[in-house]
Amino acid sequence: MTALLSVTGLRKSYGSVEVLKGIDFEVKAGEKIALIGPSGSGKSTCLRCMNFLEKPSAGDIRLDGERVGVRPGGRGDSERIMSDRQLAPQRAQMGMVFQLFHLWPHLSVLENVAIAARKVRRLSAVEARDLAMEMLAKVHMSHRASASPLELSGGQQQRVAIARALSQKPKLMLFDEPTSALDPELVHEVLKVIEELAAEGRTMLLVTHEIAFARDVADRVMFLDGGVIVEEGLARDVITTPREPRTQAFLKQIR
Ligand code: ADP
Ligand code: MG
Repeated sequence: MTALLSVTGLRKSYGSVEVLKGIDFEVKAGEKIALIGPSGSGKSTCLRCMNFLEKPSAGDIRLDGERVGVRPGGRGDSERIMSDRQLAPQRAQMGMVFQLFHLWPHLSVLENVAIAARKVRRLSAVEARDLAMEMLAKVHMSHRASASPLELSGGQQQRVAIARALSQKPKLMLFDEPTSALDPELVHEVLKVIEELAAEGRTMLLVTHEIAFARDVADRVMFLDGGVIVEEGLARDVITTPREPRTQAFLKQIR
């Protein structure tokens, strides 16, 4: 089976500092991959390179076989980085959920989700509303559709942000520490929603410090340290019996 997402030779530097030092991996359709690693190891940078929120310094990212962010050069033309406008359809295929939710405070919950559906998928107002309600039901937020995001708990806001990402009907979900800004008692409700999406067979790449969650929900785990993937394997193996000393040290520290 071909990979849905395939990353080859990914590098990213800020000035003279190389943050990602050559990363290769694949995510097959339906696979759930957890990316773990110490703070500053390059996890967010890696995720943001997938949809060119950060422009890679080198490497090749393909979604469903199509090169992301770069148009092939023709006859003597070198390849070109796409503009944000050209990138928009590719970005829409990757639903991104950040640590902070970034909902519009002046719009209702429903409008926050519907506006994404309208913009990205060019639906009519009625279609967008229907789709938004469907996605809010998936994250168990239908009952707050007309509320302002300001009235919601952090866990509820994050679930709305997940509904917003889902309303793009993405092929792949990218989660960057979706629970790390939440009060501890709100973490579970967000993880439960992610687990339900995983059970639906959605493809996801998830950065998380929730190690037990990664072990139970992910198919594979990649451990990133110092801008390289130090260890990669079946989730249970990497987390319960890591091979590499650096993985062992990291897991011991966060337990
Ligand atoms: P993680 O998500 O694993 O904590 P990041 O990807 O956020 O790591 O950061 C990796 C490294 O890249 C850090 O040393 C960070 O300071 C640096 N970095 C991230 N973004 C930028 C930026 N825009 N400019 C300069 N350095 C950055
Ligand atoms: Mg990060």
